[in-house]
Amino acid sequence: MTGVPLTVLAERLAGADDVFVFTHEFADGDALGSVVALVLFLRAMGKDVQAFVPGKVQRAYRFLDTDALLNTMTMEQGIERCSSRHVTCLSADAAEASRLGEWRPLFERGAERLVIDHHATNAGFGDAYLVDGEASSCCEVILELFETMGSERISTPVATALYAGLVADTGSFQFANTGAPSLIHGARLIDLGASPDDVSRSIYEARPYGNVRLMASSLCASRLLYAGKVVLSYVTRGMLEESGALDEDTEGITDELRRIEGTRAVVLLKETRDDSIKVSLRGKYGFDVKRVATAFGGGGHLLAAGCTVQSDLAAAEELVLLEFDRYLGPSRT
Ligand code: 5GP
Ligand code: MN
Repeated sequence: MTGVPLTVLAERLAGADDVFVFTHEFADGDALGSVVALVLFLRAMGKDVQAFVPGKVQRAYRFLDTDALLNTMTMEQGIERCSSRHVTCLSADAAEASRLGEWRPLFERGAERLVIDHHATNAGFGDAYLVDGEASSCCEVILELFETMGSERISTPVATALYAGLVADTGSFQFANTGAPSLIHGARLIDLGASPDDVSRSIYEARPYGNVRLMASSLCASRLLYAGKVVLSYVTRGMLEESGALDEDTEGITDELRRIEGTRAVVLLKETRDDSIKVSLRGKYGFDVKRVATAFGGGGHLLAAGCTVQSDLAAAEELVLLEFDRYLGPSRT
């Protein structure tokens, strides 16, 4: 745990009337669960709360009422609010300010800037930050924050959002980041009203058909490298178009690729709309993928990390594999 204690964040938030909540681009289940829970909890305290999530919100998390709760204020309105009132900005699950995407300038305009996160690579930003690098998910840290601020406000929708983030970041309590606290927090959230089967069905069994088709073509396009230690695949603009999937619907592909016997790392290269490549990395058996991501200015966790490379697909692949050469030797077959 680095930065300020939970009680400091709790006090700062308790004293705030206007709160803007932010999270990282390509927001995943933990990011969305964190933001939704913060909006609902802080509104229940009588605060005016707005949430700003970069890009489009992936459809798999609509069951958290994301359409109604997120991105309901424009940038202009947000800037206006910051110049006329004391706005407390809070970033959740983002390892650095640049990850707030197009909303970063608004975060910087806050009269106070607070940060809550669980990325060990988070060196701290804003005026007060709390980073618990041991926590599986930001939602776990937020649950502890809410317990400090008054557990009676943890309603069923708040518990459901936090549970969804916990399930998403631990791969349903299966990944190496699953610790005893994850299960204890999960149990607590079930006590507070979260339904494990509803959440799992919503996240894993309600995929848009295009997402499943995209997953199929991405699995077919995969290649085994370094004697099977690395599996690499793609999501190209063409694959997105053919499958009918949206950019924000690529979650789950790395989970399928990591199932392959003998692999120690997964590399998924995604062509973005702005001609850069988003790289998603997953490690197994302790293979540190964070060091690969940080070589390109990215970050994340030991076994789940990412970065963006400004190049075309082929060049990005070569750059990333050159990094893998350093750890697995020059023979890629
Ligand atoms: P994903 O592959 O699901 O996008 O990201 C995996 C993990 O790495 C997440 O914890 C995410 O926050 C982190 N991550 C992904 N891309 C970046 C990046 O460009 N910079 C940093 N600092 N972290 C990233
Ligand atoms: Mn997270």
